[in-house]
Amino acid sequence: GPNDLAVVFDSADELDGLTDGELSAAAQNAADRGLEGRYVVTLTLFTGHPYLSSLTRRESRRRLLAASRSRGSRGNANDNRDVLRQIVRLRAQRAALLGYENHAAYVTSDETAGSPEAVRALLRQLAAPAAANARAEQAALQAMVDAEPESFPLEAHDWAFYTERVREAEYAVDRTALRPWFEAERVLVDGVFFAATSLYGITFTERPDLPAYHPDVRVFEVHNADGSALGLFLFDLYTRDTKRGGAWMNSIVTQSHLRGTRSIVVNNLNVPKPAAGKPTLLTLDEVTTMFHEFGHALHGLFATVTFPHFAGTAVFRDFVEFPSQVNEMWILWPEVLSSYARHIDTGEPLPADVVARLHASEAFNQGFATSEYLAAAWLDQAWHGVNVEEAGAVTDVAAFEAAALADIGLHNPVVPTRYSSTYFAHVFSGGYSAGYYSYIWSEVLDADTVEWFAENGGLTRAGGDRFRDRVLGVGGSKDPLEAYRDFRGRDADIAPLLVRRGLGS
Ligand SMILES: [Zn+2]
Repeated sequence: GPNDLAVVFDSADELDGLTDGELSAAAQNAADRGLEGRYVVTLTLFTGHPYLSSLTRRESRRRLLAASRSRGSRGNANDNRDVLRQIVRLRAQRAALLGYENHAAYVTSDETAGSPEAVRALLRQLAAPAAANARAEQAALQAMVDAEPESFPLEAHDWAFYTERVREAEYAVDRTALRPWFEAERVLVDGVFFAATSLYGITFTERPDLPAYHPDVRVFEVHNADGSALGLFLFDLYTRDTKRGGAWMNSIVTQSHLRGTRSIVVNNLNVPKPAAGKPTLLTLDEVTTMFHEFGHALHGLFATVTFPHFAGTAVFRDFVEFPSQVNEMWILWPEVLSSYARHIDTGEPLPADVVARLHASEAFNQGFATSEYLAAAWLDQAWHGVNVEEAGAVTDVAAFEAAALADIGLHNPVVPTRYSSTYFAHVFSGGYSAGYYSYIWSEVLDADTVEWFAENGGLTRAGGDRFRDRVLGVGGSKDPLEAYRDFRGRDADIAPLLVRRGLGS
């Protein structure tokens, strides 16, 4: 039943550490299920749960994580193990019919990576330093536990709780308190647009006379440095009842020399609209989203291709996040930050110690975070790397999973995979089969590009134009790794990513 996705607690004591709001939500969840007087915590998509960082009772943490990890494998009507093996068999059969060795080979043949071997090589290169770093983080957390009156061996359900104590002590930045420095208009004009003008020479002119699809949507005409027209940028910041959640970019018109069209692109966010006359103050996450989505917008705007099929963001899935990730590098870049991050009342810049903490926290807990991600990416490759015969021979899902994780050295029981196979919806019911590696694949390119900009003067027209001409403009019309070599002068190196995540030796 639905209780597979929830854990029932008998008393508020068991949920000590939750906020009053979280506790009353759990009470309401219980009442909704006819369990008045008790408390129901619903599970999230991934293995971990946000409450694991605050629940003070070990037994409650243990029950929550155990319930999360056993989803889809409890021997009841919601057991996914047979259907999972069937999906794997059918995908292997389809790949064979299409002339591929396995499903991963079929999928990656149409990606930047090109082959499962290339994907596996990257994941293996990252796994060893990530696992080593996770072990070091584990040792530090164990030392905290050992300093307590009643020591115990740290387990997976304790990780988030003790990590949160370290975060509070070492990296605490009150993210809500930062909002007065992030006024939306200033972030857009003096941050996002300022960085783009500095790099690419493009300018933005608001056109309130041009009607958009909703009164809240703003239209900007974008011009090149020489004054020629580039396209239109639409900015749709606020949440509405009728608007899809999340943040995304889309193209209304794609550039094409064949059709003689210029780009019209939209950035959507879902920021709550303030009361009339009040400023929109963003969180740091929302600022990050603005820069990120604008990286996609630039990819669309800068397209210079003949066929619209190849314009801008029409690139492989494991390449499409690369330009948007790169654009995030300017958020904390000193010239950009001092331009947009000004206190709404005083005009003061963000205090230097806050900036230092934001930088310092980037590598925090990355041994764990990288390991749990890589473990899931490896499971995806393992399930989709079997041929028809091998797929038919899998009888025990848990054993297959354990063997795969041992194979790559990510079988630390204290650092579980972000998704176990039986609830890995991304790759078994979503569209990411054999493609969960994409996030880190594009981040390798991103970190390597960030290093190039840092070594080549940072925020300059020369650097921006080179990135625009050789990577962004060609869209999907050229082999992406060839475009990357054109820009970087060599293939991507994983070293900058290791440094960023604190995994360097
Ligand atoms: Zn994106």
